[in-house]
Parts: sequence; C-alpha cells; structure tokens
Amino acid sequence: MPNLNKLSELKKLCDKNNALLVAVSKTKSVEEILSVYNAGQKVFGENKVQEITDKYEQLPKDIEWHFIGHLQRNKVKYIAPFVDLIHGVDSLRLAKEINKQANNYQRKIKVLLQMHIAEESTKFGFDMDELTAILDEGELQALESLDICGLMGMATFTNDTDQVNKEFNYLHHCFQFIKSHFFKDKENFKEISMGMSGDYELALENGSTMIRVGSAIFGER
Ligand SMILES: *Cc1c(COP(=O)(O)O)cnc(C)c1O
Repeated sequence: MPNLNKLSELKKLCDKNNALLVAVSKTKSVEEILSVYNAGQKVFGENKVQEITDKYEQLPKDIEWHFIGHLQRNKVKYIAPFVDLIHGVDSLRLAKEINKQANNYQRKIKVLLQMHIAEESTKFGFDMDELTAILDEGELQALESLDICGLMGMATFTNDTDQVNKEFNYLHHCFQFIKSHFFKDKENFKEISMGMSGDYELALENGSTMIRVGSAIFGER
C-alpha cells in the first residue's frame, strides 16, 4: 500500500521549492492510485500507452495524466485525447506526430523536450548540439498545436551523488541557454522535469520544477 506520510512530506517539499509532484503510478493498481488520489494528489505519471489509457478510463476525470516514458509515434493517437503533458519528446518526427494528433482532437498538447544527460547510452533524448540545431531551423517551434513547456532529463543510475549533481546542473544550464535563445518570450517555457525517488532532493537543489516520484510513494515495483 502507498506510503501517505511520504506523500505528504514530498508535497510539502515541492511546495517549498515551487515544484510539482508527479506521482509515478506505473504497474500500480487502480485501488492504490485511488488511495493516493484521495489523499489529495491529482497528478500521475505513467510510461505505457495501454496502461495510461486503461487507468484514465477507470479513474476520476480531474486527474492530470503525464506520459513519462518513451513514446512510439504510432501510439500517440491513443493518448492524444486526454494526456496533459508528454515529458519525453526526443525527436522532431515524434513532435510532428503529437502536433498532428493534437490538431485532430482540436487541442494543444503540452510537451517537454527530453535531453540526454546521463552517462548510460541507453537513455533516450537529444544532445545539446542536436537540439540547438533543430531549434535553429525553427521547425519545432512552428508546430502550432504543441505547447513546448521546457526540458526533461534522467540522471545516471548511480550512487555517485557528484555525478548526478553534475548532470542535473548541466540540464539546468541547458534550460537557461535554450530559454534565452529560443523561447525568451514564451511564458510557458519554464519547466525542468528532473528527479526521481533516489535523487529528487539533488534535483530540487538544481532547479527542478517537476519531480517524478514512484517507488518512494507506492513502494517497490
Ligand atoms: C519509473 C520512472 C520514474 C519514477 O521512478 P522511481 O525511482 O520509482 O521514483 C521517473 N521517471 C521515469 C521516466 C520513469 O520511467
């Protein structure tokens, strides 16, 4: 069962830091999510299209659903009607498909651009060079049904806090550069999604505005 004391501790910490708590409920049951919802948490994150869609259908409609995983282009259409924020946009082709589906449903979809900040080569995301080149072209900014709200990143999975600290600090710098060069007049470009159960404190110290916390709230998966 979820740890509601931990939930309230995290909420206070987020309030203090002006950050948003995304409760990552992947693999957890509708009952477990409801108990966290009933404790006042309204924002949940999932990383599988089928799972987020099933849960969206079964759970209260005032939940904000964030998609936090790697998203395949052919599945965007299933979440486009209801998803609140897509954290992991890591290619122009994916951005274009989200734009198209948002258009289909006559809505704007909020997204974050995922940057590769970890040492592991397995994690998805843009490199800084790649992202600035795309933004220089202007194609991403021109997608009218996308609301680009900031950046997202995942640190290396390690106990080396210096390493993790360095990576979060790097993402913060990338954010400032990209904001000032490409989104200076876009008020909504203000989010840095970084920090999970093992490293949210470090992330908040480095300017995170959204932490994505699963196991610390729901228990091990
Ligand atoms: C699973 C997941 C999380 C949450 O991880 P915990 O360590 O359980 O807090 C955060 N972000 C992403 C992208 C995830 O896939």
